[in-house]
Amino acid sequence: MANNDDHSSKNQHSPNSVFESSATFRMALSQLESVATLLKIDLGILQRLSVPKRAMIVSVPVRMDDGSTQVFNGYRVQHSLTSGPSKGGLRYHHKVDLGEVAALSMWMSWKCGIMNLPFGGAKGGINCDPASLSMGEKERLTRRFTEEVLSIIGPRMDVMAPDMGTDEQTMAWIMDTYSMKVGYACPEIVTGKPIELGGCLGRREATGRGVTVCILEALKELGIKPSNATAVVQGFGNVGAITCNELAINGIKVIAISDRYGAIHDPKGIDIAALQEFVSKGNMLKDFPKASPINPEEMLMLNCTVLVPAALERVIHLENAPHLKCKILAEAANGPTTPEADEIINNSDIYVIPDILCNAGGVTVSYFEWVQDIQQLLWSEEQVNSKLYELMINAFRRVRSLALEKKISMRLAALSLGVEKIAREKIKRGLFP
Ligand code: NAD
Repeated sequence: MANNDDHSSKNQHSPNSVFESSATFRMALSQLESVATLLKIDLGILQRLSVPKRAMIVSVPVRMDDGSTQVFNGYRVQHSLTSGPSKGGLRYHHKVDLGEVAALSMWMSWKCGIMNLPFGGAKGGINCDPASLSMGEKERLTRRFTEEVLSIIGPRMDVMAPDMGTDEQTMAWIMDTYSMKVGYACPEIVTGKPIELGGCLGRREATGRGVTVCILEALKELGIKPSNATAVVQGFGNVGAITCNELAINGIKVIAISDRYGAIHDPKGIDIAALQEFVSKGNMLKDFPKASPINPEEMLMLNCTVLVPAALERVIHLENAPHLKCKILAEAANGPTTPEADEIINNSDIYVIPDILCNAGGVTVSYFEWVQDIQQLLWSEEQVNSKLYELMINAFRRVRSLALEKKISMRLAALSLGVEKIAREKIKRGLFP
């Protein structure tokens, strides 16, 4: 696929300068550059892969409940449109910025590539604190954002899904706003929506289920029985809570869990069903009476079989990486490990299941949802789960055998499969005009 250009050099005119102030974007770029070197990707193709195809920044004015007006910054970045419509979540978080969204959109491209899905990568975000917004404010924010990005979204152009701080209800508002604009019900404009609106059975659980498939496969390879394994999970939102549940169903003891307000620990194993019930009644995870509080940073360094970051980026870093005591690092969140930490972990015995493989179950079932909406037919949850299992296990095994064959890390192997697929498509399609 190659020429002999020097991949380590930065683009001279850096079309990426608007994104590069973000450490997360630089992290995504440096990963791409190391894969490009390994695969000897043509420099022109590398340049095209390094730059998001399209990025939109919008200001989103919202009438707040107290009558005042607040303006939020919103972003939608489409990294690649080569393989089909772009696909990716919408994040509501107070630290969202353009560079982070661009990095996440790039990772989505590689993820769709690994899973062989007919999508490019995209991501969106609004800089806000969703916990401080009322339902009405969130609805107005979501509808106005949808209106602002209307010209670049569409079922064949760009399809959103939930991410941190957004959920099925957010997708329902987007679907309704878009449908009102085009004049007919258009469920295929988003995935991860409520079942009543054309959502897919098993979508909400899909990411956590995919994470668990990967963990069980890694345990099998390491010869560890699930009943002898323990897990520590950072984050108790969609991905974290479902992963805890699936791990518990499979006999793995979850000994510590955190969320943004605190962390809890019980070496005998936390009763996940009881915790879920406790939290669903509006209680804080940190107040769960059947476990002890623990420092969230220290929690990451507990002795355990599997550590599952399922919240934010860059939480495994230079300071804590040398002190991890897990056997498996299952990256349920996107970008949880910094490149510096990655280097430390690569020189240890920790078995890494990289994010773009580990959490790919979500976009995979989003693809099933999109296909069902377009064809106007319904799959049963059994069909969804068995197809998810088939695609996840195939992807896991392809990544694992490449890593073993080439003697490279799981991350590099996963990135190679994802990047190579898109690079090949770009070569075949050629460059317009
Ligand atoms: P969510 O909003 O449902 O949950 C996020 C959780 O992280 C919450 O429990 C929150 O309290 C916790 N959290 C926030 N800051 C924290 C901190 N400093 N320390 C510990 N916990 C903290 O989000 P989600 O959908 O579960 O997404 C979590 C991660 O998984 C993100 O990186 C997201 O991009 C990734 N992901 C999500 C999906 C999906 O289908 N939802 C798919 C693929 C990847």
